[in-house]
Amino acid sequence: MVPFVMRLVAVLAAILPAVVSAAQPEPKLTLVVPFVAGGPTDKLAQPFVAAFGRALGERVSVKNIGGGGGSVGTREVQRARPDGKVLLLANVGHAAAPALNAKLPYDPQKDFEPVGLIADVPMTLIARRDLRAHNVAELRTQMETGRRKLAIGHAGEGSASHLCSVLFARAAGKDLPTLTHPGTASAMNAMLSDGHIDLMCDQTTHTLERIRSGEVQAFGVTTVERLAALPDVPTLAEAGLPGVQLVVWHGLYAPKSTPPERIERLSAALRQALQDPALIDALKDLGATPAKADDATPKALRARLAADVERWSKALKQ
Ligand code: ASP
Repeated sequence: MVPFVMRLVAVLAAILPAVVSAAQPEPKLTLVVPFVAGGPTDKLAQPFVAAFGRALGERVSVKNIGGGGGSVGTREVQRARPDGKVLLLANVGHAAAPALNAKLPYDPQKDFEPVGLIADVPMTLIARRDLRAHNVAELRTQMETGRRKLAIGHAGEGSASHLCSVLFARAAGKDLPTLTHPGTASAMNAMLSDGHIDLMCDQTTHTLERIRSGEVQAFGVTTVERLAALPDVPTLAEAGLPGVQLVVWHGLYAPKSTPPERIERLSAALRQALQDPALIDALKDLGATPAKADDATPKALRARLAADVERWSKALKQ
């Protein structure tokens, strides 16, 4: 009898932790990344949620919902209960989307509560490594005289990569066939595996390593100055494509009508997270610049969003 009881106790001791952990509540806060896993927004979100969760004292997890240039995941946050438990990580595309997506199912300014800016990320114009063009001049020649039209991949209407593709096509004076994906991670996979994508404009969070290893070639960066992380890559203006200047700023949003005290708490945790050495290091490795404390506020994000909605609606009208 006694050995049986001891065996029973041993079995229970072995399975109990699994039972207890399976019964634990769902993570407390969900951060929606409106693009597929492994892409630029996800790469930023992963170290961010770790630091943000520490600062907030809550469990935070990332949920990737790709599609519609970011609008599918964004819509999910718009519809979530406004208790500050479901948040959105959106980039400059949130401001450009009204001009780029005629069927946008929400108003980026009216349907969300801004929490604060998170980080800025530069973009890079990249190509398949076997494309026989190694700089912007050769790229232009190939676009003029090549037997087939070069195709550009992006993450759908209203995404940062779409915005950048539009600026590129305009600066180059050429329309390019486009192939859309639910995030640049899958567009990149298609480009690397002969999925008929020749070019992409994508963020350093997702391209730095591939450029450094030679997996893809880089024609230029979208910033005013060259990047310390890629000193040999010219700016696109230097390379002959002025007008393709774009910094991908990222903001944190809650659904409309989230209580002000909760927004203030989230915003304070955001500012604290941006001081976290682990996050600072991770952002540096991705070529990202953390937002300054003054910008990690609802007021600053609201102003940035309003200014950019206006800017892109004017700039993209033609
Ligand atoms: N940031 C998006 C992604 O994670 C793409 C984009 O906005 O261009 O795929």
